[in-house]
Amino acid sequence: MKDKKCYMCDATATTEEHVPPKAFFPDILRKKNKNFIIVPSCCEHNNSKGKDDEYVRNIICMSDNSQPPISLNDKVKESLVRRDGSLLNRIKQKSYKEINGENINIKTSIEMIRFGKVFSSMAYGIFYYKYGKTYCGEWKIHFPNLDWPLGLNNDIVKDDIQVLNNINKFAKFDCIFDKVPEIFKCYECFVKTRLLYKLVFYQNFVVYIYSLQDINIMK
Ligand SMILES: [Zn+2]
Repeated sequence: MKDKKCYMCDATATTEEHVPPKAFFPDILRKKNKNFIIVPSCCEHNNSKGKDDEYVRNIICMSDNSQPPISLNDKVKESLVRRDGSLLNRIKQKSYKEINGENINIKTSIEMIRFGKVFSSMAYGIFYYKYGKTYCGEWKIHFPNLDWPLGLNNDIVKDDIQVLNNINKFAKFDCIFDKVPEIFKCYECFVKTRLLYKLVFYQNFVVYIYSLQDINIMK
């Protein structure tokens, strides 16, 4: 950790950050398996989004498109009950998913700001992991698997989604990370000088992240 910079800013790293965040892994798997993406981090960029990590993980686990490992169920369930006020009270739309044999009724609109925060952090982390330096631009993030009708892709205009879908159809992705495929896989491809990440969580939940600034990977 000596003399290393944070994956997101210029501060000296004092800790490390997991990509995806620790909350995305069942505890058993996290203790057993050391093959994760870990990047140097300052305190601020490691500790500031724990609740957001948990929130985003809960929503993804409840999506019909994801197949989280059974060992994660208790963690999600416990978190939902504990955070009753912050998640379950924001009820707008209906969606049901069976967790641990009980039907928990999750009716919510998704807080996209929190999704943006969590996934852009991951993109910065993946970039640092691959290229050993910080990407200074912003990201555009697209969630094709989010099936809730409210609050989706608010900051993405339709044209962008179409462009992204077309790019994805023809893009050739290189695998960056697939050591824990039941939790997370990550692919990248260059579209001219922009970088497109394809992240897959819990086998089927897909997130596309696109760099808004040209990437120059040469020093
Ligand atoms: Zn930082």
